[in-house]
Amino acid sequence: MTLKRVGIIGAGTMGNGIAQTVALAGIDVVLIDVSQAALASGFATMVTSLQRLTSKGILEPALSEAALARIERSMDYASLRDAELVIEAATENVALKRDILKKVEAVVSSGAIIASNTSSISITEMAATLDDPSRFVGMHFFNPVPLLPLVEVIRGLQTAEDVANSVEQFARDLNKTPISVNNSPGFVVNRILVPMINEAFFVLAEGVASAAEIDAGLKLGANHPIGPLGLADLIGLDVCLSVMDVLTNDLGDQKYRASPLLREMVAAGRLGRKSKQGVYSYS
Ligand code: NAD
Repeated sequence: MTLKRVGIIGAGTMGNGIAQTVALAGIDVVLIDVSQAALASGFATMVTSLQRLTSKGILEPALSEAALARIERSMDYASLRDAELVIEAATENVALKRDILKKVEAVVSSGAIIASNTSSISITEMAATLDDPSRFVGMHFFNPVPLLPLVEVIRGLQTAEDVANSVEQFARDLNKTPISVNNSPGFVVNRILVPMINEAFFVLAEGVASAAEIDAGLKLGANHPIGPLGLADLIGLDVCLSVMDVLTNDLGDQKYRASPLLREMVAAGRLGRKSKQGVYSYS
């Protein structure tokens, strides 16, 4: 499958990272959001990210400009008409995503593949929203998308094998490494990673050590490139909380109970880097 045009829904942290990566691979992108401000700030993030790559000599300025020129921004789902693949990367909310999937299926051609970058929602359940659930697949990128090589390709019960295979090849075309995963709460990486982050919030709340010491502990003692609390700020505390809630509900095991401190910080709007305040302050 050689793609010419890919639609991306949501211009936030993940959507703009995916858009940049796809555009750099020479593919036209249509980036959709409900908010003009989100489209503008997503585009500004891509400009800054590409400038960083060119100033370090990793990317030629002409390639950066060509990538930016390939990205169309729109608030109108009808702009997805000619997309051969649409990747949904909007806010993590089941009802919202169901609504988006229906709108996407109404405009794209019958052969188009529809994917979601959800961190925690069941791919099988999302697929069931569509008239043709076999065209739906999970395509889970990691943050920051331009830097991290992994894509989990998640097969729901109804996902057609050729759809999953095409998306795995597309991930390789983006210079990413796909792993094949069967639908299961948290998939592979978040099932293992987010409970560790959650445990760091319990350790912090119990006063065992400061945030900086917890992060230094995992960086220096376990050779992690970033500590669990710094990583929570990067991922978004709301995203981490929603993964823990899905693991608790869907696996039915209280060992996945979210830390009350994590829940409290999300309720206060301290979502991490994107709100300039999480465990650490970014102002
Ligand atoms: P975000 O909050 O940064 O961005 C979400 C964007 O979706 C916002 O710009 C919002 O305006 C837009 N949006 C909301 N409703 C919409 C609609 N109906 N149509 C179009 N756009 C809409 O969120 P994010 O961190 O980029 O996460 C997006 C998805 O990616 C979520 O499903 C999340 O679970 C998943 N994910 C996040 C990470 C991470 O580290 N943040 C990693 C992997 C996967």
